Amino acid sequence: MSALHQARVLVVGAGGLGCPATLQLARAGVGALTLCDPDRVEPSNLHRQLWHGPGDVGRPKVVSAAEKLARVFPRVAVTPLQLRVDAAQAPSLFADHALVVDATDGVEGKFVLADAAWLARVPLVHGGVLRMQGQAMLLSPGGPCLRCLFEGPPALDEVPTCAQAGVLGTLAGIVGAMQAGLALDYLGGQRAPAGEAELRVFDGAAFRGRKVRVRRRADCGFCGLGTEARA
Ligand SMILES: [Zn+2]
Repeated sequence: MSALHQARVLVVGAGGLGCPATLQLARAGVGALTLCDPDRVEPSNLHRQLWHGPGDVGRPKVVSAAEKLARVFPRVAVTPLQLRVDAAQAPSLFADHALVVDATDGVEGKFVLADAAWLARVPLVHGGVLRMQGQAMLLSPGGPCLRCLFEGPPALDEVPTCAQAGVLGTLAGIVGAMQAGLALDYLGGQRAPAGEAELRVFDGAAFRGRKVRVRRRADCGFCGLGTEARA
């Protein structure tokens, strides 16, 4: 049995990013998927969340997604957890998995997940979509943290959530698949140079992608030198 078949991957969010990410991970042969999401399916989700149909409206997203995954990929063990992953639960939940995919909406929760993964030394694939731009990045143990790139969450009124801003379903599909690709690269043994990560940005309007090299910052307030207790 390959390492991929034995890998347990945690996907936080069973919506616009989590649906395409789990599709690609299951298709590639990941052995076990844990899905976390506190929300229920809403009619406005249906255009970009492929596991959910009109008959699922009102049902927990994780139950709807796990059901469809089990039907299409019976060999993948899927565990649905209807909960919001917070800083208190994250360490034990993350430690039980080879890798975490952050497929959540909203900005603030992404720092909670990325901080917890960095401290637990569990790799996390960050991802986000806003308007016509999407991005994905693998954060590896010992590499840069999310705050080396973005110093901290923006003010809550500065960045609308996807539901507020409107998101093209196709762009969410592309970014979810990009996240799955980064996860599969890592699980397959690919590693970034020490202390580095690569931010992948996809501009949906220009239909153009670019890569940005991200280095661990000595003056990062979270993981930088002077905060050795965390490293
Ligand atoms: Zn940092």
